[in-house]
Amino acid sequence: MRFRFLAAFAFAAAMTLTGCKPAEKAPGNAATPVADTQPIPPILLTPEAQDVHSYANPREARVTHVSLDLQANFVDHVLAGTATLDVAAEPNAQKIVLDTDHLTISKVTDGAGHALHYQLGQSDPIHGAPLTVQLGQARTIAIDYQTAPDAKALQWLAPEQTLGKKYPFLFSQGEPILNRSWIPTQDSPGIRQTWDAKITVPEGMNVVMSAARDSALGALAAGDRRTFSFKMDKPVPPYLIALAIGDLRYKAISDNTGVWAEPAMVDKAADEFADLPRFLDAAENLYGPYRWGRYDLLILPPSFPYGGMENPMLTFVTPTAIAGDRSLVSLAAHELAHSWSGNLVTNATWNDFWLNEGFTTYAEGRIMEQVYGADREAMEQDLMWSDLQDTIKQLGGPKSPMTKLHVDIPASQNPDDGMTQIAYDKGAEFLMTIEKAVGRDKFDAWLKGYFDRHAFSPQTSAGLIEDMRATLFKDDPRMAKRIGLEQWIYQPGVPANAIHVKSEAFEEIDAAAKAFAKKGDVTAVPTDMVTQETIRFLNDLPRNIGTDKLAALDNQFHWNQTGNSEIRFAWLDLALANKYPPASKSAEQFLTSQGRLKFVEPLYTLLMQQADWGPALAKQIYAEARPTYHPVTQAGVDKIVGWTGTPTAATN
Ligand SMILES: [Zn+2]
Repeated sequence: MRFRFLAAFAFAAAMTLTGCKPAEKAPGNAATPVADTQPIPPILLTPEAQDVHSYANPREARVTHVSLDLQANFVDHVLAGTATLDVAAEPNAQKIVLDTDHLTISKVTDGAGHALHYQLGQSDPIHGAPLTVQLGQARTIAIDYQTAPDAKALQWLAPEQTLGKKYPFLFSQGEPILNRSWIPTQDSPGIRQTWDAKITVPEGMNVVMSAARDSALGALAAGDRRTFSFKMDKPVPPYLIALAIGDLRYKAISDNTGVWAEPAMVDKAADEFADLPRFLDAAENLYGPYRWGRYDLLILPPSFPYGGMENPMLTFVTPTAIAGDRSLVSLAAHELAHSWSGNLVTNATWNDFWLNEGFTTYAEGRIMEQVYGADREAMEQDLMWSDLQDTIKQLGGPKSPMTKLHVDIPASQNPDDGMTQIAYDKGAEFLMTIEKAVGRDKFDAWLKGYFDRHAFSPQTSAGLIEDMRATLFKDDPRMAKRIGLEQWIYQPGVPANAIHVKSEAFEEIDAAAKAFAKKGDVTAVPTDMVTQETIRFLNDLPRNIGTDKLAALDNQFHWNQTGNSEIRFAWLDLALANKYPPASKSAEQFLTSQGRLKFVEPLYTLLMQQADWGPALAKQIYAEARPTYHPVTQAGVDKIVGWTGTPTAATN
């Protein structure tokens, strides 16, 4: 996932170190999987692998396969149908416990259609409700159910909220624990499942999922509807099951890559991501064969709250990554890298989210370097270093427990609130530090082997350290000590041996920013800055530079109108902090035309901090924008602006 701003969600949980114990194998893993290509992997039973954000009882009984048969109802905003689960259980297992969130369950039966006793427990605002099914001898259970209209994982968009304005749209976002609001299963990243799905939709609409699709047209179903079928024969953590329905077209980029988008967007998107096959080559070069078949992108409507979501075979992408000049495509390199880190080797719990994101951010950099060269990548890494310093400041400084890689998110906390940018940037810095210490060739060979050794398996920080000691540092244990593996993972702040990559190109930019801040001579600012240089320049300028100098920049560069979302954001961040009046309209246009958390949360936060005019402007813009935002974005901004709801705040 490409993530978000975090200051509004700081938590002060007690952080404790957990022990490093060898992995034990779980019972109930000997079941024959439905899929033919990958065996169902064991769950981990180490203390670090205990998932407090799931009700599941995998030691007694675990789900190995999910089969969905669902009708999409765009009038009532409901998915309804059956989830049939294959279960691997201990011989004397009494029950299986599943995760649900505001699902209406009408019936639970065994494979032969006989009713099974079940109980839906009390619903918790974060975790939803446990669904306990008395198994008897059953190893297949079928659950008839429907979702709530405000299911957390699903956003139903009206036609007006799409580009084409003709058909409605639906998309899901499962990470971290949202999929239980549309799929009754064991929703823990450590419990991998194969899956298949039949999704029936109104005529004229297309369905895509994070799996192989049977046929392009779907099969005719009752009432002028069509049924599309999908199959994922590799075991995945359930947060990676993803669905989108809308007026979608496909355009191939190569034999095994391409883009899905609304018709008006599909050519533009295919052009923007034309280098996707080169990314795939670079990634395979580094980390071995891509194991998922196709790799496609789905361009979502602008309310998609994240930069991207690495749903297998079909990354979900924000349209704000399309700048028209391919300058923001590192996002696709990031999501592609998740095909190894995250999707192949997965954090066993959200406490080790950094294993997904730190490895991916590191691999993203390596892919970008291979495709576009070291100079461009040095700019990205220099920007990342600055972002990391900002993040640490926002989280309360280098002693804050929130700056640890391995965090302890208690059951009382939404995992979303404990997952911060630290996992990405500090995680990548950690791996860069090891790479530098052992040498690139040795590190590359180790990482490729690591993905192979743990393919389709959950992983913990303790497991990673154990693997590194047994392989990478086998002949030189003192090296591991010098690097300080435990300090990096379990202690706050960034150790002194971290690598700060400095971009040479930024030297000129830094000098230009300094001179401009002092003298205000806009003719001395380079006019040929690339996107990363522009962002650096804007971030360099003081937050109290004054409106005259901003007006001079505005006249020269027109950043109030730029369609490059990253530059627009960096500009607004500077201009709003300076209370530059012409930025108000630009902020309104930007905040009402997309709902990406990374941009939306910091800009509202900044406005709320600008006494006199800021809070009123923030509330006025939010009243207009809120109905178009995703529920996740609404929840975040509600807290920032102190939203209490008014008649203008109709939810969609
Ligand atoms: Zn990611």
